[in-house]
Amino acid sequence: MRAVLAFAPGADPTYVPLGLAALAAHIRATVPGCELVPVDLSHAWWEQQALSEPDWIGFSALYPGQVLPTLALARFLAQQVFPPPGRATRPPLVLGGASASALRPAEALRACPWLDGILAGEGEQGLVRLLGGGPPAAVAGLAWRDRGIVRVNRKPDTLAAADVPLPMFEDLDPRARWNPTPVLPVVFSRGCKGRRCRFCAHNLSYSG
Ligand code: SF4
Repeated sequence: MRAVLAFAPGADPTYVPLGLAALAAHIRATVPGCELVPVDLSHAWWEQQALSEPDWIGFSALYPGQVLPTLALARFLAQQVFPPPGRATRPPLVLGGASASALRPAEALRACPWLDGILAGEGEQGLVRLLGGGPPAAVAGLAWRDRGIVRVNRKPDTLAAADVPLPMFEDLDPRARWNPTPVLPVVFSRGCKGRRCRFCAHNLSYSG
């Protein structure tokens, strides 16, 4: 028998799941013929991704609580997952999203040498440049390293809603979420520069 015991995501990313390790040892010693496979879901998916050899990896952190786990995950990728066997270099790792826009990018890059860039502001314009192979100096909103010196580019101007296509949810399958019926998010605050609502990260994506 082969049994999978999964450690659910959401725990501190620095934690090695003790419960899984203890149960794996116990089952191995007491249930002959049972192979118990411990899987830490925070890491397992990324180890699979390494096999697909991506050329570029970006992280989108909307909620402030996502920032530290994302930085820890990026370090894990840079130090233990990539480059996969047979490749000399690892893909660039870039942090974006509304909470990335709330960081002091120069400080964050200095504190996280495994991170290659931080993309502040709306991602659309910067991402086009980054994935199209544009030079870092031309990527609006990008904080990056130029021969060891951290440079911070100006955030992009906010695009008009009419100039961007409707979101594409097909790959994210809203029917697979934990809602009784599919629920799609809508942002009505595009371009807000009010910045008076302390609970809100959306306005951080907009320049001005
Ligand atoms: S800062 Fe306030 S008004 Fe602006 S988008 Fe956020 S919640 Fe809305």
